[in-house]
Order: sequence, then structure tokens, then C-alpha cells
Amino acid sequence: MRTMKTVGALGFAAAAIAFTAPAVALSVAQSAAAPEVIALKAAHIFDATGTVLKDGGLVVVQGERIVSVGGSAPAGARVIDLGDATLLPGFIDAHTHITMQLEKNYYLGRYHEIMRFPAEQVLYGALYAKRTLEAGFTTVRNVGASDFEDVSLRNAINAGIAEGPRMLVSAHGIGSPGGHFDQLSYPPDRVHPEGPIQGICSGPENCREAVRYQMKWGADVIKIAASGGVLSESDPVDVPQLTLEEMKAIVSEAHAWKRKVAAHCHGDAAARLAIEAGVDSIEHGSFLTEDTLKLMKARGVYLVPTRITVEWVLKEADNYPPAIAAKARAAAAAHGNMFRTAIKVGVPIALGTDAGVYPHGMNGGEFGLYVNLGMTPAQALLSGTRDDAKLLGIEAEVGTLEAGKVADIVAVPGNVISDIRATEHPLLVMHLGRIVVQKPGS
Ligand SMILES: [Zn+2]
Repeated sequence: MRTMKTVGALGFAAAAIAFTAPAVALSVAQSAAAPEVIALKAAHIFDATGTVLKDGGLVVVQGERIVSVGGSAPAGARVIDLGDATLLPGFIDAHTHITMQLEKNYYLGRYHEIMRFPAEQVLYGALYAKRTLEAGFTTVRNVGASDFEDVSLRNAINAGIAEGPRMLVSAHGIGSPGGHFDQLSYPPDRVHPEGPIQGICSGPENCREAVRYQMKWGADVIKIAASGGVLSESDPVDVPQLTLEEMKAIVSEAHAWKRKVAAHCHGDAAARLAIEAGVDSIEHGSFLTEDTLKLMKARGVYLVPTRITVEWVLKEADNYPPAIAAKARAAAAAHGNMFRTAIKVGVPIALGTDAGVYPHGMNGGEFGLYVNLGMTPAQALLSGTRDDAKLLGIEAEVGTLEAGKVADIVAVPGNVISDIRATEHPLLVMHLGRIVVQKPGS
């Protein structure tokens, strides 16, 4: 099947090839009829090449690409005038679980999780993917899913049979038996213990094998649990769960295949090991000390804060088992100070939300929370556009509004610098040159 949605299907190494495929398709189409030229106009534009918001926004799009930014609309273009609005690059979320959704009733959610067939669960994922795209998020990095559901969903989106953002996926997160990514402590005769295929490993070679299996079946990125987590019942939240040798094996294998490594990590000691092993980002980071944040800055390791989930889980704590509620409160109590210190130190910060813990489609709330904790609105916007694109290794194609880049574009009401929460209500969403949301009157 020929498709216009090929980006990311083959992972980082193949991303450049995948990105060029639509251009070939276009030149074939052009011999029949050239794609329509669309000019998006708005009072303001934040192109994410720097921190400045400019007035008189204009982006001209043809097919899947941006033709020009600024100037005036070419003759014959279909002009969409959005009025008092801001044009921005499509938003990126570097931390989603788009195939799952934590339920209000935690225990019922666990029951559904184990009873639903993978094919059934992916249909839920398709609904969540559509909601995410409609919220203005044109790219997500999905960091953890069961049964290769994220690979399945990504492939279906790329084939044009499901609607959703560009997905870079990790398949199973990799962690230790009994750790954050292992199943609940079901008796082993009831639920069969998992192994490297499901991302559960002990010892460097066993963990290397786990990485190879995820990549074999389509992982674009590798996710590990360096420390314990909040939403798992049997482990302390902050202790290391992989050894330095295990993480080194994981990182060397992933990097050899040009895959980046995202480390789920709340604890400081675990973060030290993960940074030494060479991971590309630390996710959550609740208990990181200033010294560790300085080390991240020196090594160019990104922080992915998932702030909206920290606040969501704190709000919902009473609905979780007591052990989880206690961990949620401890992590939330530490996270705000860590975040402020990270800004002060100058750690590179890439926006990520942990969507799936909170309801899908609310991702845009993350921008405002960064501003609440001390980022400028422009910094917050860059974290969810240009800087996320860099972390994901796709900055040549997305993340800014520039001629030649993929036409992933969002328009939000008013001046986004004076009202950052406008990111929660996009007026228009364009993905791969196609308008997927256009609110009445825009
Ligand atoms: Zn997560």
C-alpha cells in the first residue's frame, strides 16, 4: 500500500529515508495535478527557531512540506486567515503511553489490563492517538507498551488506516524482575513470569538480549527503568533497579543501532548510574540533586519532567493502593524544587507528560505548568517543539516552522506568549500538510 504517512516507520536509522519517500510520491502526483497551496495566516507566529514571537504570521504549505515562512501569500493559494491567533510548530510529547489509560478505579483498571486481548487494547490506543493529534501533538515518543501494541499502532498510523501523531516507539520498557516494569507480583503459577522479550532481564547479556528483541520487532527508541517507580506496588520509588553493567550493555547495544535510551528514573543514585552508562534522557527525575543536574548539563542529558502527571497522581492519590499513594506524595513533594533547580542550572529540558496516567488529549497543559515553575513561556514552547525534536533525533524534519520542513503546524488563540494556556485549545492542527482540526470561525 502506498502511503503518505511513512515517517518513523523504520526507526531512527531509516527515518531520513522514510522522510524522503513522500517527496518521491509527490513528484509522481505533480505530473497529474500539483497539490493545493495553502497559506496559513495569523496575527502572530512563534516559529521556534528562537525565543521571539513575531507579528504578521504566514506559513505557506504545499503537499506535506512547508514552502515558505513570512512574506505574503502566493497568487492562487487557498488562504486560511486565523485572525488573532499564533502559528506554532506541531507540538511534541517525548513521554507517552498512548496504548493505555489508567482508570479512575485503579483495581478495575488492573483487571481490564490483564483480561483484554492485545488486538482489543490497540483499538483503544487508536482512539487515544486521535485525541492526542487533535490536541495539537503531531509527534509522540511512546516509552512503554505491552504486547508490542505501540509498534502495531504506529504501523497502522503510518499505513493511513488509523489517525494519530507520528510515533517513535520503545515497545516494552526494559527493567529488572520485580522492578517498575515487571508485572504486579502475581503468583508465578497464575501469571507466567516475563523475560527479555517482554523487557525483563537480569545481568548484562540478558539485558542486551532484551534490547535486541525490542529492536527486532520495531523499537525506535529504548526505554529502561533505572530506578523504582510510583505506579508499581512492590518496589521503593527511588532505588536503583539495574546495575551499571546492565545499563552499559543496554546503552551500547541501543546506540550501536542508532537508538537513543530514555531512562525512567526518580532516584538520584540511580540517575548517577544511568548518566554514567550514557543514557540520553532522564524521565521524571523527582529526587535529582543539584550536582546530578549539573552533571546532566555537562553531558547533554535531557530532563523530561512529566509534570502534569506528578500533579495528576498527587490529586488522585486516594484512589490508589496505599503503597502507591505514599510514593506519589513523596515524589510530588520533591519534584517542584528539582524542576526549579534544573532551570537554574540550565539542564536541557524536553517536554514530556506521561500521557496515559492522566487522560489522553490534555497534553497541552504541560506548557503552563513549566511556566508556573519558572520557565519563560518561550522556553516552555521550545521544550515542546525544537528541543523535543532534538532529543528524538528528528530536528531536520520537525520542531520548527522553516521552509523545507514537514508541515506539522498548530494555531492557538491569541498571543501564546501572553497566555501560555492557549496551547490547551488549538484552533487548527495540520499534520503532514493535512488539516485535522479546524475550529468553526477559524
Ligand atoms: Zn511513563
